[in-house]
Amino acid sequence: MKAAILNGPGPLVIENVHLDAIEAGEVLVKIHSCGVCHSDLGVIQRATEPLDTPIVLGHEAAGTIESIGENVTNVQPGDHVIIAFAPSCGRCYYCVRGMENLCDQRDYPDRSGSGPRPRRTMTNGTPVMQGVGVGGFAEYTIMPEYGVIKIREDAPLNIVCLLGCGVTTGIGAAINTAKVEPGSSVAVIGLGGVGLGIVQGAKLAGASEIIAIDLVEEKLQIAPKFGATKIINATKVDAVESVRDITSDRLDYAFEAIGLSKTVEQAFAMIRKGGTAVAVGVNRENISIPGNDFLREKKLIGSFYGSASVHADIPKLVDLYMSGKILLDEMVSRRRPLAEINEAFDDMKAVQVIRTIIDY
Ligand SMILES: [Zn+2]
Ligand SMILES: [Zn+2]
Repeated sequence: MKAAILNGPGPLVIENVHLDAIEAGEVLVKIHSCGVCHSDLGVIQRATEPLDTPIVLGHEAAGTIESIGENVTNVQPGDHVIIAFAPSCGRCYYCVRGMENLCDQRDYPDRSGSGPRPRRTMTNGTPVMQGVGVGGFAEYTIMPEYGVIKIREDAPLNIVCLLGCGVTTGIGAAINTAKVEPGSSVAVIGLGGVGLGIVQGAKLAGASEIIAIDLVEEKLQIAPKFGATKIINATKVDAVESVRDITSDRLDYAFEAIGLSKTVEQAFAMIRKGGTAVAVGVNRENISIPGNDFLREKKLIGSFYGSASVHADIPKLVDLYMSGKILLDEMVSRRRPLAEINEAFDDMKAVQVIRTIIDY
């Protein structure tokens, strides 16, 4: 099969790769479409550090089941599936307590979040890692049975693949992690796929004020379509002061969807006493906040994969999309073939797109 391979710093290379045979409990997925998520770019940009390469990135994928291994009961060949990048086993400490997004199965030992062992090799025999447990920038991937979620067949795979990561992360951060209440006020910093998901989640939850904050005017202009009631261009005004003005210093929830300490600190600064700031963006920095604010009962919480129980939540989100209650098509800025994967990352670096989808 063809796969986009990351060998270290530098562009991805399309190569022919040999995929292993599936084993018991595994499924072979023919990938139909895969979104290009910002955290893939993060792995590429960290590729100067020691990293398990070669590796196939891509983790926002949907496709069809090509074949199943022994003992697989939840899916059949031909089923339409969304791939969960953080699959849940249903049996570990966290899964049985309803925290499937924190499943112990996903704590893979290596830094790149690859699957537990390589299931594909280069033509010269070098093992190829499965990035973020998915390896979606390839024509096929092998997943554990619990890593695929069967969805209804009338849902377009080239759109609902977005539910594999960004949109589920965003909507879930608002609904599951923060539990935004009807009538509340919400600010969202960063309007990528995750941030616009948070805007939609806040709208679904019944927030009355949803303030969208970004540096890019084009992203701000589309935010009202997703539910934003106000927009703030942080290149022109101070975001914290503006939000305090708009809400009379009564902001209930602030979400950070970029992954920078500075913006997490801004989110924490803009909430009211007793309010909640949620760090959603992938962040590897230290964060500095005034300890005194804890005496005001301000809360800073983390969110991973929208605190989702993916096997329950993703089919629900597909239904919400099919009934027009959440928007996905509007998030797709561009479609490209796998051969243009590097151009897709260039678009992202130039902040020209919300989401590019690779179609196979
Ligand atoms: Zn992602
Ligand atoms: Zn588990």
